[in-house]
Amino acid sequence: MANNDSEWRADFPLFQQHPELAYFDQAATGQYPQSVIDALNAYMTGANAPLHRGLYKLAYAATEQFESVRSQVAEFLHAQAADEIVFTSGTTAALNLVAQSFGNLIVDGNSEIIVSIAEHHSNFLPWQHLAETTGAKLLIAPVTADGAIDEDWVLAHIGMHTRIVALAQETNVTGAQLQQVRTIADRVHGQGGYLVLDGAQAVAHTDVDVQALGCDFYAFSGHKIYGPSGIGVLYGRRELLVEMPPVTLGGGMINEVTTLTASFAPAPLRFEAGSQNALGVIGLGAAIEYLQPRRAAITAYLKGLTSQVRSALAELPAVTLYSSPAAPATVSFNVDGVHAHDVATFLDEADVAVRAGHHCAQPLMHALGVSAVVRATLGAYTTEDDCQRLIAGVREAAAFFAEARHES
Ligand code: PMP
Repeated sequence: MANNDSEWRADFPLFQQHPELAYFDQAATGQYPQSVIDALNAYMTGANAPLHRGLYKLAYAATEQFESVRSQVAEFLHAQAADEIVFTSGTTAALNLVAQSFGNLIVDGNSEIIVSIAEHHSNFLPWQHLAETTGAKLLIAPVTADGAIDEDWVLAHIGMHTRIVALAQETNVTGAQLQQVRTIADRVHGQGGYLVLDGAQAVAHTDVDVQALGCDFYAFSGHKIYGPSGIGVLYGRRELLVEMPPVTLGGGMINEVTTLTASFAPAPLRFEAGSQNALGVIGLGAAIEYLQPRRAAITAYLKGLTSQVRSALAELPAVTLYSSPAAPATVSFNVDGVHAHDVATFLDEADVAVRAGHHCAQPLMHALGVSAVVRATLGAYTTEDDCQRLIAGVREAAAFFAEARHES
């Protein structure tokens, strides 16, 4: 392979402290490039002040920096305006906000909500709960043999009762990306419903244009795009956000409060009660600055490595693959007769860090007939050598556990 070593690896100082580490858990939480660390450091050492409230220069400057990230995120998602961007603590909080605030406005006992079996719990449970509390029906799209959400199934099931379609643009276990978002958006809009996209995985690998996609809401997290954890974004179309009631009440989100009544600030501030995660937002801005100009090149590079790993594992008779052949940076698998945790622990002995478990996608695990899978996810810093170590480790794990079974 021509590109033997990631041209971005040197940007990630963690690998200078841990040169031995082959880190395959980017989809769970990413590593930080130096530029993000520098931005956090600069804010902490020279710019920290309360946001939106202070009446002095340092506070104005901090607020300006915070709000400039809102504009940056709007541009990153090709949103129409900065006030369509709500800062949250992550994708989970963003999706819960949509379900609790918007969902309760538009869903009732006659409604149908469509999700897929491959959703992360954070794009499953809020809708399951909304269906339970309103009496709406939850329709669950299956996955195809390739691990893709069955979009034809989704299209065929959108009907006059569909109020919400909520799908992962890229799933976190199979790594498949939606291919027909615009068609789904148009279809659901034609029935008076709305499209919510969980972008937690997709946004690292693909240019997201919320207007071209036609989605009504889009959620993602900072820590999966080389930024901090505990910060995320909800994009919402302005005309929807302005109608939505706040879910969390407190400081910073009001117009006026009396002993009997309260009126709330316009969106997006109305959804940002309490002191905000300034460091998270600053780090998110720096992470976007890092990723945006490099994303296409990183994704092309990761696709090459990912398909190498996939092909190599496919040749091992003891390995069953669960991820999509088209997944940009995810390889999910099991070794026959070996629990995923044992494979992960075996790989860890060789400093190859993978994730094993249900990946917050238990409905998918049930559908696949497994309790857990091993998941290796790649990031900008992943090298071909890392991939060779992963492949060798899985091969050795398969041999080791087969031998152990043989002996027992
Ligand atoms: N959706 C998907 C597809 C994810 O991969 C994740 C994170 N594993 C989430 C939602 C939740 O993200 P967070 O934990 O940052 O809220």
